[in-house]
Amino acid sequence: MSQNTTPEADMKNNVSQSNPGGGAPTGSSGGPTRYPPYGGPNWTRLRNIALIIFTVTIVMNLLAAGRLANAAVPIQYSQFMKLVEEGHVDRAELNEERIYLTLKPHTDITMVRDLLDTTIPPAVAAALSSGTVYTAVIMDDPQLTTRLYEKDVTFSKIYNETRSSPILNFVLSWVLPMLLMYSFYAFVIRRLTRKMSSGGGMGGMFSVGKSKAKEYNVQTSTGVKFSDVAGQDEAKESLLEMVDFLKNPGKYQSIGARQPKGALLVGPPGTGKTLLAKAVAGEAGVPFYSITGSEFVEMFVGVGASRVRDMFEQAKKNTPCIIFIDEIDAIGKSRDNRFSANDEREQTLNQLLAEMDGFEGKQGIIVLAATNRPEVLDKALLRPGRFDRRIIVEKPDLPGREAILAVHAARVKLGPDVDLRQIALATSGATGADLANMVNEAALLAVKEGHDQVQQKDLMESVEVVIAGREKKDRVMNPKEREMVAYHEVGHALVSAQQRDGQPVQKITIVPRTMGSLGYTMNMPEEERYLMTQSELLAQITSLLGGRAAEQIKFGEVTTGASNDIQRATALARGMVTQYGMSDAFGPMGLETPENQYLDGRPVFGGSDASSAAVDKEVRDILMRAEEEAIKLLKENVDALDRIAQHLLDKENITGEEFMELLNAA
Ligand code: ADP
Ligand code: MG
Ligand code: ZN
Repeated sequence: MSQNTTPEADMKNNVSQSNPGGGAPTGSSGGPTRYPPYGGPNWTRLRNIALIIFTVTIVMNLLAAGRLANAAVPIQYSQFMKLVEEGHVDRAELNEERIYLTLKPHTDITMVRDLLDTTIPPAVAAALSSGTVYTAVIMDDPQLTTRLYEKDVTFSKIYNETRSSPILNFVLSWVLPMLLMYSFYAFVIRRLTRKMSSGGGMGGMFSVGKSKAKEYNVQTSTGVKFSDVAGQDEAKESLLEMVDFLKNPGKYQSIGARQPKGALLVGPPGTGKTLLAKAVAGEAGVPFYSITGSEFVEMFVGVGASRVRDMFEQAKKNTPCIIFIDEIDAIGKSRDNRFSANDEREQTLNQLLAEMDGFEGKQGIIVLAATNRPEVLDKALLRPGRFDRRIIVEKPDLPGREAILAVHAARVKLGPDVDLRQIALATSGATGADLANMVNEAALLAVKEGHDQVQQKDLMESVEVVIAGREKKDRVMNPKEREMVAYHEVGHALVSAQQRDGQPVQKITIVPRTMGSLGYTMNMPEEERYLMTQSELLAQITSLLGGRAAEQIKFGEVTTGASNDIQRATALARGMVTQYGMSDAFGPMGLETPENQYLDGRPVFGGSDASSAAVDKEVRDILMRAEEEAIKLLKENVDALDRIAQHLLDKENITGEEFMELLNAA
């Protein structure tokens, strides 16, 4: 989502400024600062040493190869012999194919030019000098060595490779290896520094030293207030106490109350944990130090621990303040699991525990941590004096969602027809982050459509975008598929409408969405429900199976499109039997306990193997009865099924009102 409209986004921008020297701490009063790791290797020095080695090697190789780089001037063997005969040749080097010669230092170049006139290009002739190397193709000349010897030429035999083609030779033996070495070096250094840096601005090897390893963030003032956090009243109430500790420490000290050191914010992602932590700092007007647990996971051993130490050290100098450890489960996972031992994580965790024991509550530091997986945390973290308080940050309920929508909608221009309550009703289960995202999507949509205000239509569309993925206009379903999807969706809607306890239909669509659904039926309760009766549950199961029942009735077979419906219906039926005591076979016996509430909500079965089989049978009975009921309802209304499905095929979208009109038309 784009956070352009949130105050938080502005602060993030501040925080991302780096301390360009990467050097010594510049104090925390001047806004965001970053600190280099304590015990880590000194990357700048390493880089410099490598650079020097690299340069020296290159220069030496260039010097050594320089001689070879001068292309020798080709001449004929006879010309070569003539030069020898006349005593101009100083040195000669021979290999299997060629002979290379250098003339005596004071040879008359004009004479040489005259001699070579016919065989070499004028441009080359003009460039001849006393240092020029000449080369001739060797001939089968047994007298050669004698003649050279007689004329006092220094001669030697050389290996093929070193003379065969000076340029190619140079490239192969020096340039190529150097390039390879360089690439390898750059690759390795980049890999190493990427692990340490926050990822930005790695512009080649020369910026390596400037890499800004992300340490921890400091905000002198977060600017977030409790009023920016909508809903979450219980969480805010617990945190208000913390704000008071920070603001009026004397009040508590005089009574002798031990101040809490830390609290754990627990809740699903996107519910506003980070926002709440910032709001505590903002309300108390104290600095906000934060690190994120997951950043440590792939780090070098020792770095995480030193950062934790560093952060607490700084924080203690700037009390009162808030320290926030986001995603603490990444470092605070239980150490019991020997199979996934991670030294770095353990060191970081130990350091954190040591730091938390190392200061007094009255020092005015409050450590907040956030997690969505409290059950995996090491027990040591939850002991008194550490994160002994838990603040539950739940997904928002209906009034909460409306309030969150209002907070975010206040930042965009709303049209007169906007009804946030209706949006809140349609978004049961959405988190604060989802809702913020929806408002932003709606604003984007409004711009795209050329409106100057966000309209209800935009908001409704963005709900679908966020819930079901973006509309996929380019996906083409073949006509047969389209028809099946239409009947399937109308099946859901009809079954739902025909039952006394069914929920009213809000929208039916067969426009495919990116997240895999081919169409869907949206039912909207008139109000948020916390309780469901047995008959409502049954009605819902029946409606879920209505899609499949319609396929069965119309086409005589079923498709794979109902798999999600089946899963959901089965889960509901199973819940009725094992958790809600709604079966004859087990009565009010609890067979399953929800565990892992914040992870995946998968329940744990607590009964015997025999009851497990009996539960399966009971669940199956419920589902079979519901399917029968759905088929019966649809058979009684097969005219309406055809009529509405045809209309849906024409229009692709049907609103709840249109649906009711069509249903009552006959
Ligand atoms: P978490 O840390 O729980 O994953 P965040 O605090 O990062 O969630 O929330 C992400 C964004 O969602 C926030 O920046 C804010 O825009 C929005 N948001 C979440 N909860 C709320 C809320 N209760 N009120 C207003 N905005 C919220
Ligand atoms: Mg967060
Ligand atoms: Zn379905």
